[in-house]
Amino acid sequence: MPAYEVVIGLEVHAQLRTRSKLFCGCSTAFGAKPNTQTCPVCLGLPGVLPVLNMMVVEMAVRTGLALNCTITTPNQFARKNYFYPDLPKGYQISQFDRPICQNGWLEIDEGSATQRVCIRRAHLEEDAGKNIHQAEAGVSHVDVNRCGMPLLEIVTEPDLRSSDGAVAYLKTLRDILLYLDVCDGNMEEGSLRCEPNISLRLKGQDSFGTKVELKNINSFKFVKHALDYEIQRQETVLADGGTIDQETRSWDAERGVSVVMRSKEEAHDYRYFPEPDLMPIEISPQRIDILRLSLPELPEAKRNRFIAEYKLPAYDAVLLTSSRPLADYFEACVAGFPNPKTVSNWIMGELLHALKNDNCDVIASPMKPDRLIALMKLVDDQTISLKTAREVFLDLFRSQQMPKDFIQEHGLMQISDDGTLDTLIDEIVHTHPKQCAEYQSGKDNLLGFFVGQVMKASKGKANPQKVNTLMRQRLMSENIQS
Ligand code: ADP
Ligand code: ZN
Ligand code: MG
Repeated sequence: MPAYEVVIGLEVHAQLRTRSKLFCGCSTAFGAKPNTQTCPVCLGLPGVLPVLNMMVVEMAVRTGLALNCTITTPNQFARKNYFYPDLPKGYQISQFDRPICQNGWLEIDEGSATQRVCIRRAHLEEDAGKNIHQAEAGVSHVDVNRCGMPLLEIVTEPDLRSSDGAVAYLKTLRDILLYLDVCDGNMEEGSLRCEPNISLRLKGQDSFGTKVELKNINSFKFVKHALDYEIQRQETVLADGGTIDQETRSWDAERGVSVVMRSKEEAHDYRYFPEPDLMPIEISPQRIDILRLSLPELPEAKRNRFIAEYKLPAYDAVLLTSSRPLADYFEACVAGFPNPKTVSNWIMGELLHALKNDNCDVIASPMKPDRLIALMKLVDDQTISLKTAREVFLDLFRSQQMPKDFIQEHGLMQISDDGTLDTLIDEIVHTHPKQCAEYQSGKDNLLGFFVGQVMKASKGKANPQKVNTLMRQRLMSENIQS
């Protein structure tokens, strides 16, 4: 089989997290009863006029800036005309030749290397409704709640070269949108939708092959599955001497195949024209500067800072910056317990485990930074052993108690005081005269045995370092056959 190169470009629709729709006051809440969130504007009844939600413009500009785009000013809405039952107006308000953001890029991590993926444009548009087909009953329903939801469509150049690269891009983009708090990133609910375009070409060939667009992909896993399936399919067709038809295919996750939705012959002519009911949007350079300054620290920058400032391994930094709330949690803990690696270990280990176990996110964690800080301090000053602290973490996490009270109540204090330890040591030494003699005749490795006995007698609460030191001293000074 000839060697092919995969070429992928992605179109991503991000639903912007506003409370009301793009051109009317209807709610954007997900999951409402069908057709309860509509008004004459989003239904497109005659005689009404759209009013632009300015929050949307702000969110689009902030996203564009985070994606290194140029902000187009003035940018302009355009009508995209087509007929479909889920689009009662008969046209969608979108942007065409003056999209709000253009010519950006995004860096993705691919194992050891990074790749820059160019972003051709990002434009605002309203969403359409949803057709719900009930094949068994032989009827279709239309839910227009989604009509007029604000979308930002982000389009890349055909820069990606593998399904893994496409997934990496999508994850990176999603993280940025979440950090910016402009989209909830939920692929299952459709607030982040990805439509990959994919073609193959012979290795070394300059021109691109014919592309296929894939639709109806609602998880990261399916992005990978759908692309891998499509790569295989195109490879087989081409290797057999066939040609790829330019078409839109729908991913059927259940069967694990893509099926033709429409071919190029059915392609629409949308008859775009400037939207006469909306003014072009002017954004002053000062406004853009203010928005640029208001951008939060983005995932990549935060990751690099965590590595440089806290001397964390890259693995820790990636995990801790995987969401803003988690990164904030980490930094709050370091502020109270300035040993970043110890904090990182507790968060990556016990905390994330407990959160996962109780199906809880970090914002709602019953263990706030102050309690974790207090626990780390108690381990640090040897009030409680690390082992015990780990063992009781989940119970402590679920309780509302401060670690000190919890430890007291459950009698978990580590025994570090010399008097108590001496008594324990006495006991063990005197009940094991044979081992004692052996130690003194040179079997040094019996020290472990003695320490183990003390730990056992103390039900694990003796301070092992101290027992070690005291036991060694005792064994050396003990009179044989005492
Ligand atoms: P269309 O007009 O069909 O929407 P565009 O040229 O606007 O096509 O591109 C849409 C998306 O498809 C972009 O993300 C672009 O990068 C990608 N794309 C374009 N040509 C190809 C190709 N030959 N192979 C893979 N992806 C492509
Ligand atoms: Zn409405
Ligand atoms: Mg397209």
